[in-house]
Amino acid sequence: MKFDIYTFTVTDRFVKYATIDTQSDPESPTCPSTEKQKNLSRVLVEELKEMGIKDAELDEYGYVYATIESNTAKNVPVICFCSHVDTSPDCSGTDVKPLIHKKYDGKDLVLPKDSSQVIKFSEHVALAEQIGNDIVTADGTTLLGADNKAGVAEIMDAANFLMSHPKIKHGKIRILFTPDEEIGRGADKVNIKKLGADFGYTMDGETLGHLENETFSADGVSIKIKGFSTHPGFAKDKMQHAIKIAAEIVTLIPKDKTPETTEKMQPFIHPTSVNGGLEEVEIKFIIRAFDTATLLSLEEELRQIVIKVLTPYNKCAYEFIVTQQYRNMREVLDKHPQVIKYAMEAIKRTGVIPILSSIRGGTDGSRLSFMGLPCPNIYAGEHAFHSKQEWVSVQDMQKAVETIVNLVEIWEENS
Ligand SMILES: [Zn+2]
Repeated sequence: MKFDIYTFTVTDRFVKYATIDTQSDPESPTCPSTEKQKNLSRVLVEELKEMGIKDAELDEYGYVYATIESNTAKNVPVICFCSHVDTSPDCSGTDVKPLIHKKYDGKDLVLPKDSSQVIKFSEHVALAEQIGNDIVTADGTTLLGADNKAGVAEIMDAANFLMSHPKIKHGKIRILFTPDEEIGRGADKVNIKKLGADFGYTMDGETLGHLENETFSADGVSIKIKGFSTHPGFAKDKMQHAIKIAAEIVTLIPKDKTPETTEKMQPFIHPTSVNGGLEEVEIKFIIRAFDTATLLSLEEELRQIVIKVLTPYNKCAYEFIVTQQYRNMREVLDKHPQVIKYAMEAIKRTGVIPILSSIRGGTDGSRLSFMGLPCPNIYAGEHAFHSKQEWVSVQDMQKAVETIVNLVEIWEENS
């Protein structure tokens, strides 16, 4: 009802943001990793100020903070909405030209600048739900950047709606745009104290209606094997070869606990790199499981494999180093059930069936949750991200805007 006469700005904003190159760079030590991310952040600050949000600011690390003040006498928790401005280093983000395919008819979408890039109806299952909708894609030469500029545009449009509809009651709302999420550093320089929010939502999920309350728990493991080298002509019964020992270890990883053989809630052990030579080899692993107890038991399983393999090699040694990466945000969210409950209700009020789901990965929200800001992930409508076939629909973005507005109202109603 409240959106019947509203002219959404989300698509225009999205198209504008998508053309600004904000690719992050994992090799860069600075924050933000690329200065160009601030080009978008500065635009956002300007637009927020135009809406009347006076305190909108960009900090030295490339984070945007802004406040929509409370307009209710009630004492409502401060709610934060968060998206990331950077795009993936996996695919070019230079010179993005968004195209709107009006009234999608179910055919394959051939991207005009590279006809080998075809968004096939048969491969993109979510397209079946989009008949009649308007689909935004890139031109075939770059990614689109809907991950996560769709989320950014949705938060901006929701802010625009709230600032222009003061009768909609809500508590204090904080807006946060982060750099460098795609390289795992999005939460690094968030000033949680300055943000001052009680609960948060990232707008960075995929399919319409989805709400993600679980991520993997994640550790990295480095195994260093020290071999024993001799001249190969005189190596009989002496040489103990670190490369071959490493190969034995990798071979013994259970075949049913790898990314290639698992899905949904199943955990895995995954070697990501092998470096070294006869005398020393380092194998790096990532370990992933939804519950931390399983994660720790997989690490123990890997350690036992190493011990078993090394036992016959009396001149060899090993190191086994575990580095904690992130934890399943559900451990935090379960203590604050209203965060999920209200988000489910907010989605439902847009006429969409809410679906609670899990991510086989991490989000900024999983880090933020453990930094004291319980923060599940709401859909932004982005699909096939990190690729030239990335797409998002206008109608899904509008539903996400409605979801944000409903959500702040529900928090107010329940306070
Ligand atoms: Zn993202």
